[in-house]
Amino acid sequence: MSTYRDLLSKTRAEISEVDAARARALDGALWIDVREIDEWEQGHLPGAVLVPRGNLESRIERIAPDKSRPVVLYCAVGARSAFSAKTLSELGYTDVHSLAGGIEDWKRDGLELVMPRTLSPERRARYSRHLLIPEIGEAGQLKLLDSRVLLIGAGGLGSPASLYLAAAGVGTLGLVDADIVDETNLQRQIVHSLDTLGTPKVDSAKRTIASLNPDVNVVTYRERLTSENIDRILDEGWDLIVDGADNFPTRYLVNDASVWHDIPVVHGSIFRFEGQVTVFKPKEGPCYRCLFPTPPPPELAPSCAEGGVLGVLPGVVGSIQATEALKLALGIGDALVGRLLLYDALAASFTEVTLRRDPACPVCGDEPTITEYIDYVEFCAGPRAHA
Ligand SMILES: [Zn+2]
Repeated sequence: MSTYRDLLSKTRAEISEVDAARARALDGALWIDVREIDEWEQGHLPGAVLVPRGNLESRIERIAPDKSRPVVLYCAVGARSAFSAKTLSELGYTDVHSLAGGIEDWKRDGLELVMPRTLSPERRARYSRHLLIPEIGEAGQLKLLDSRVLLIGAGGLGSPASLYLAAAGVGTLGLVDADIVDETNLQRQIVHSLDTLGTPKVDSAKRTIASLNPDVNVVTYRERLTSENIDRILDEGWDLIVDGADNFPTRYLVNDASVWHDIPVVHGSIFRFEGQVTVFKPKEGPCYRCLFPTPPPPELAPSCAEGGVLGVLPGVVGSIQATEALKLALGIGDALVGRLLLYDALAASFTEVTLRRDPACPVCGDEPTITEYIDYVEFCAGPRAHA
């Protein structure tokens, strides 16, 4: 019967133990921290990945499919990493080393450490369902908290989009809307309520978001987007735009600005029972003008006062926009770039149409003909829904 000490010295004798200098000389080595997450959060070695010893066997083949690649394992003082090295050898890894003295010796020698940013216990609880998804995890959640998303419109589409983005922990949300909450909005604009009737939509939405998630900084622009203010607003630095504009002049302005500022736009529109979503990503896919180079004549423009909408429809479309926004912010999945997703609520069907960039597009084409903002004045045959 051997004691822990015996077992450790026996294991040490069977594996390769290297000091920091020798470990650092290993070309292309994978550095694995086999400690627990709370130890990792106190600081770790540059370029290392965390695989707690308890998960090592189950995760190593995904992290290091090439069993001949050099691997440096470390822990606090070199004991757990020694046992881990033996395990990896048994799994067929041929160039495995344990860092002698672990991170404690490393620190004593004054070598470089990475102090990771981490989530507080409160945030860890709030975002636990994100942390459980490997594609998001803590790093992804920190990315979301650092993200800045500008929402054009705090109405039908902006309501679900802003609520879900706020709940997901997108750290900064910009809201652009000049309107006041009125009773006709409440059939679908779920970020507003009876309590905020008569107040500016941006303030109403900010209030709701604040009561949902204090992590979110809401920047409000109580103004109608025009050629005069769009550069000022976009210059404040946004990672992406969620366009929930209900009118063509704004849609064209947002499009042209997004191409010139190189900001992806998650576009959504709704009419009666039908909705559309796509992502316009400059340089990677078409822009709005690739599809519609110029606005339609007023009599064909369906937005404005006469355009009815099923109350839940913006919930579906705005939620898909929020989904695309989160994917873009996280850098995961396949964005709806060059793909128009059409939703027909009456038929309960989704269809997808491929969209292509038009090399002759007046804005993002090879020889652009539109290089300055255009304020299209009036499109509605009838009066606008809101002044
Ligand atoms: Zn274009």
